[in-house]
Amino acid sequence: MKIHEYQGKDILRKYGVAVPRGEVAFTVDEAVAGAKKLGGSVWVVKAQIHAGGRGKGGGVKVAKSIDEVRQYASQILGMTLVTHQTGPEGRLVKRLLIEEGANIDKEMYVGITLDRVRSRNVVMVSTEGGMEIEKVAEEHPEKIVKEHIDPAAGFQQFQARKLAFALGLSGDAFKNAVKFLLALYKAYEATDASLFEINPLVITKEGAVVALDAKVNFDDNALDRHPEFKELRDLDEEDPLEVEASKSNLNYIKLDGNVGCMVNGAGLAMATMDIIKLAGGEPANFLDVGGGANAQTVASGFKIILADKNVKAILINIFGGIVRCDRVANGVVEAAKIVDVHVPIVVRLAGTNADIAADILKNSGMSFLVAENLKDAAEKVTKALAA
Ligand code: ADP
Ligand code: MG
Repeated sequence: MKIHEYQGKDILRKYGVAVPRGEVAFTVDEAVAGAKKLGGSVWVVKAQIHAGGRGKGGGVKVAKSIDEVRQYASQILGMTLVTHQTGPEGRLVKRLLIEEGANIDKEMYVGITLDRVRSRNVVMVSTEGGMEIEKVAEEHPEKIVKEHIDPAAGFQQFQARKLAFALGLSGDAFKNAVKFLLALYKAYEATDASLFEINPLVITKEGAVVALDAKVNFDDNALDRHPEFKELRDLDEEDPLEVEASKSNLNYIKLDGNVGCMVNGAGLAMATMDIIKLAGGEPANFLDVGGGANAQTVASGFKIILADKNVKAILINIFGGIVRCDRVANGVVEAAKIVDVHVPIVVRLAGTNADIAADILKNSGMSFLVAENLKDAAEKVTKALAA
């Protein structure tokens, strides 16, 4: 689950991580009131969307007066912000963060995530902050310094010192960075996060070390341990079809192609997408209907797949291991009666009672295209597209 920068900073603050003071605003008046409450003479008006690159896209502005706060707030609120992470359609800005301006000396980077290859959390730092870290990783991987964390021992003081040293810091800035990193890691573990990205981490002219940006993602599988995070979810930032799917316990990810896929099991879903591409088609989605695959789940699956207007054909690929194929076939027939499916449906059922299932589909009086195997299914569905 992703959250907004201001929400992430609120959480970091609780764990003693240094972040600028800020106020969230949903209207221009709230933005002005927020700036007045913060006081000072420099404010930063920041668009709150679940995507980075806001600065370059015009969603982060430094204001030197309350009038400028008002001006930038009215500019940014309601704008469709396009960044390299939003895609060309951009994102409508509905919230702002009004923050005290920091006196930046250097912009650095720190990230924490799970290194799946090493099965350990990794804390990464780089002196190349403020820019796209993906680019740094590609062109200058040596400029990213990593420390892997032993899960039993935890993040050690010496590791934090090593990282602060790699950032070229000394004196107060060094001490503050060590403190910052230790607090940040504590917050990461305690919140069951899957990603913390602070870009930029700034060293101020006064030697303070502050998180100027905060990207915080939580591990969805751990959300039950954090009921307090539920209210942080912003459904406006999520794909409406994916929200709908999650309500029916379907794992759905929308893609750009035209072949809708309905599959049981994530691995089979990935393989199905691959084989559709091999046959010359483009998958419109990833959809794992789970173990059940009864009439109801198949019907919800149809509705969600068909809500995507790009879908020109559907491929159902179910392996009947736990669930019997004849049951799935009956489910598919039932579902096709409930939902008005106006595109060709190719069905491949393999496993227990697959032959009975094929007969059910063929004798249903509906125009299912029954496939013999996965390759045949992919070919049938790409052919159906052309028809
Ligand atoms: P994004 O990564 O989406 O572009 P950031 O929060 O990183 O957004 O902001 C972009 C840039 O704006 C930062 O690299 C920094 O230079 C500047 N900036 C952001 N917040 C502040 C702040 N509170 N004070 C001063 N400058 C800021
Ligand atoms: Mg940033």
